[in-house]
Amino acid sequence: MGEKRKNLCRILSAFILCIALAFAIRVTVPQNEGLAVPAMVYLDPGHGGFDFGAVGHLAGGGRLLEKELVLHVAQDCATRLRTAGVEVLLSREADERLTYTTAPDEVRARRAAAGEAGVDLVLSLHANAYAGQGRAYGPRVYYNPESEPSKQAAERIAAAISQHTGALCGRECRLVADGSYYILADPALPAVLIELGFLSDTQECALLADEGYQAKLAEAICAGLLGEET
Ligand SMILES: [Zn+2]
Repeated sequence: MGEKRKNLCRILSAFILCIALAFAIRVTVPQNEGLAVPAMVYLDPGHGGFDFGAVGHLAGGGRLLEKELVLHVAQDCATRLRTAGVEVLLSREADERLTYTTAPDEVRARRAAAGEAGVDLVLSLHANAYAGQGRAYGPRVYYNPESEPSKQAAERIAAAISQHTGALCGRECRLVADGSYYILADPALPAVLIELGFLSDTQECALLADEGYQAKLAEAICAGLLGEET
């Protein structure tokens, strides 16, 4: 009788231990993994200094430089994200660069700075140009498909851009799974590259020069990043 009771106790103890373990495992599995709002973002307005990036031509003879457009939108994004409690590092705050050698050196230096700072996400802003036949326009969001957090952030941002600017631009934001840009290539450093639109397209260039449209782009990028879109 005594031995039977001891065995029962052992079985009961083991059972309780199993339940406790199962509960501990369940509660330590993070919910919505990868969908979290990044605590620290490296905002990278592309180009700068002697590197103008793409050049758009406005009616009346004015020019819209990619390096100026992306800096303006990045600064707007930085303000919005900081207001929402996100820590923001900018690759550049003015018309300057980290290096004064080549474009690949510059991108390497920016990615290294983001990596060293231990940011949760790199957000690189650019604008497109197309010299071929036919009309190329509309915003595009690129990500490395080998990185799940990059994919999720890119999907959210692209959806938000479509929602905020689709009617004005006349086209939804294209989501492109392509990690070949250097800034996107390391899956260990989540990153999204946004081409705000085509400066080579006369209509879209005029839109991109408009401060109200620039603010809509910044608003959309931040809403996507902060998970405010449904
Ligand atoms: Zn660019």
